[in-house]
Amino acid sequence: MQLPREVIVGNGIMRSLGEVCEKLGFKGNVLIMTGPKMISLAQGDVTDSLKEASFSVSYFTVKSATMESVKMAEERIKQVRPSIVIGLGGGKDIDIAKLSSANRRAPFISVPTTASHDGIASSHASIKGLDKPYSLRGQAPLAIIADISVISKSPYRLIASGCGDVVAKYTAVRDWRLAHRVKGEYFGDYAAELALMSARLVMRNAGSIRKLGENAVRTVVEALISCGVSMSIAGSSRPCSGSEHMFSHALTMMAPKPALHGEQCGVGAIMSACLQKANWELLRQVLQKIGAPTTSSELEIENKFIVKALTMVHKVRPERYTVFGERGLTASQAERLARKSGVI
Ligand SMILES: [Zn+2]
Repeated sequence: MQLPREVIVGNGIMRSLGEVCEKLGFKGNVLIMTGPKMISLAQGDVTDSLKEASFSVSYFTVKSATMESVKMAEERIKQVRPSIVIGLGGGKDIDIAKLSSANRRAPFISVPTTASHDGIASSHASIKGLDKPYSLRGQAPLAIIADISVISKSPYRLIASGCGDVVAKYTAVRDWRLAHRVKGEYFGDYAAELALMSARLVMRNAGSIRKLGENAVRTVVEALISCGVSMSIAGSSRPCSGSEHMFSHALTMMAPKPALHGEQCGVGAIMSACLQKANWELLRQVLQKIGAPTTSSELEIENKFIVKALTMVHKVRPERYTVFGERGLTASQAERLARKSGVI
């Protein structure tokens, strides 16, 4: 079980990064991995705070979430020999930092500037262009520093997408329980409850999230962190990723212009819940309240791709049993499901 040792969520806490690294017992070099948009933040407050704590700071600019980027980041780690790697930015930056630091056996701190999915706190990373569409195992962050004042300034669409990823745990946990019953798969109550608690928290606060109050953003960030922790406890992404995630992965592979991960997972969760005979109307209502997509037109993806992706859910990760079963859905069953749940 790999769990973060420090989780700090608060306003204007970017400047505490140096102090946290010091408190965790690190010295010397720090390598910050970030995207082109966040480099000014990295070189400003973050670097100042690290320098004040006597660290020397190097940078690596993340351009894409590909294996090539991971390799380049690993080369940079070899060159700089940092005592700690900091992933600062959105999902992509954190994923590259997570995977490259795990491969080079360097500890890693997650500093998210958006709240668009649970990768900010998990040990899993999404890398494009691989034969497997789902996430790879990296390492859990040693610390997470989530500055609410920075995250609040990110586009609302990203926060709504993060909510979709959290709400999706409602169906992911149901799929996990089903796999336990049908296939005898290991089921961890505690990890499952933690993931569900996050989903409930976001569902309960759906109305206030859209108003983007400080507490609402904090709720989403804390829910995403708890999801990451639940995966660390389970030792796999099982509590957070069921058939709704596989639908999203399938859609990403085939749609000409996929939507955001959390947006697709939210829509997938509506359909998975419908198939699970769970309260799919509630999920739809919650996502509507939040302002996250609930239909193909809101995802801006043609109906035919939604139906095709539904027929592929069972093939995305055959070892992971879900409500779609081993044979999956035929095209007409898929279309019926998408219509019944109001997605198309
Ligand atoms: Zn997810």
